[in-house]
Amino acid sequence: MSTHAKPVAVFDLVIFGGTGDLAMRKLLPAMFRRFLDEQIPAHSRIIGVAREEQAESDYRERVREALVKAIGKEATQAKVDAFLDLVSYRPLDATRDAGWDDFAELMGAVQDHVRVFYLSTSPRIFVDICERLRAHQLNGEGSRVVIEKPIGHDLASAREINDAVGAVFEENQIFRIDHYLGKETVQNLLALRFANVLLEPLWNAAHIDHVQITVAETVGVEQRGPYYDNAGALRDMVQNHLLQLLCMVAMEPPATLDPDAVRDEKLKVLHALQPIDAANAAQETVRGQYRAGAANGGAAPGYLQDLGADESSTETFVALKAQIRNWRWAGVPFYLRTGKRLPSRVSEIVMYFRDIPYSIFEAGSGSIAPNKLVLRLQPDEGVKLWLMAKSPGPGGLRLQSVPLDMSFAEAFGVQQPDAYERLLLDVVRGNPTLFMRRDEVEAAWRWIDPILAAWDAGRDTPRAYAAGTWGPSASVALIERDGRTWHDDDH
Ligand code: NAP
Repeated sequence: MSTHAKPVAVFDLVIFGGTGDLAMRKLLPAMFRRFLDEQIPAHSRIIGVAREEQAESDYRERVREALVKAIGKEATQAKVDAFLDLVSYRPLDATRDAGWDDFAELMGAVQDHVRVFYLSTSPRIFVDICERLRAHQLNGEGSRVVIEKPIGHDLASAREINDAVGAVFEENQIFRIDHYLGKETVQNLLALRFANVLLEPLWNAAHIDHVQITVAETVGVEQRGPYYDNAGALRDMVQNHLLQLLCMVAMEPPATLDPDAVRDEKLKVLHALQPIDAANAAQETVRGQYRAGAANGGAAPGYLQDLGADESSTETFVALKAQIRNWRWAGVPFYLRTGKRLPSRVSEIVMYFRDIPYSIFEAGSGSIAPNKLVLRLQPDEGVKLWLMAKSPGPGGLRLQSVPLDMSFAEAFGVQQPDAYERLLLDVVRGNPTLFMRRDEVEAAWRWIDPILAAWDAGRDTPRAYAAGTWGPSASVALIERDGRTWHDDDH
């Protein structure tokens, strides 16, 4: 556990959707870990809200089970009991007025607390919740609202959500969460780039050949089929997580770490993305959908079977080539790919440096691979810098590519905190640096919408790929056409 936990003010965290998957699997375990680290001040309250009628004791038991499942033996009975003293439950339908007076009374019973309303529900009821919070004057200065992805289905629907939430809360009270930004490696990008002199002079088109961003999942759609089938990989992953990672890699150095300074720079990257539309979508994008195959050590069903449907043109895989039109990145492609039922669960950013200008070594010394910086977000977060070195031993000089490998867990001897731990406490502190501002979300949709429109207009159906493979062969062709290959961690 970290010994550097910064204290936060006493707070109330209300989780609308307190019985849901996200609350049980991520939010409550994250709060518990912060509690174990003694970062949750006494008298703070965590209040689960959902429609289901149940006794508070039953809710607490569900939370206990979720904590034990998520955390294992550290969740000792005594510690869980102490944490559960902070946890309560309110049955409430966020779309109806009944029960809200009581809820407001519960909230108002304690003054001076920071109030965090986490909307861990379907976005369809965000507006209902916000309006009722306003009707009961729960949107005052100390209040903050957290909204989860998906923020809209396209630019128009994202604006509707942003307008509705923005009518109740000021922008500085709205925390649009993208948990990728809470990952240690992503924050470490800021440290690597701006707390070292080594990298930044090389961080441009003169020295970087191309960039790859991969977010691969081994799971299929699981229980999220109906949601996912309406979204697809481009909306579900690229619009938010992958574009946010691209922004962190590509942005100019902000003048300060002030939240708006960082987000201004990210926004400029989004604005500089070359459009992909009907004119070039066929060359620059690939969509895929998994079929039955061998994955996760056994036979895995196809997407349609997972979905229980006869047909669907939703993509479960996307690969695309993005270009940033500015001085720093002109001519440096950013290849992005993400998909479900891929061979391994991995999220990483790989910076490929250019070839050396001239080799002094003999032909028999082996080929000289360009340097490569691998920033791994999951699993085992860390950084690997691939350098050429001499293969040890006598005889002729043989060259070999070897990694300087820094696993954060080993280097710092601590378990990396889950992204939600960091982000939830940033909300309590009122620090939005690692959250998406309204204009960022909308700029991302502005870039994504023409891709979706081009796919629609071209009646483009996803290409099949077998579960347990790295997507359709067209994804390999997308990058190999340019004389490059997708990153493989072993060399
Ligand atoms: P979920 O398992 O379906 O949970 C939804 C929760 O909302 C339940 O607690 C449900 O309880 C409650 N709810 C539904 N209607 C309500 C109403 N009218 N008033 C009050 N509560 C209501 O969903 P989830 O997977 O936790 O996801 C929550 C949100 O996070 C979604 O926007 C999702 O897209 C997003 N998200 C989830 C994940 C994830 O890993 N699960 C990841 C990223 C983003 P009752 O039915 O009893 O009311």
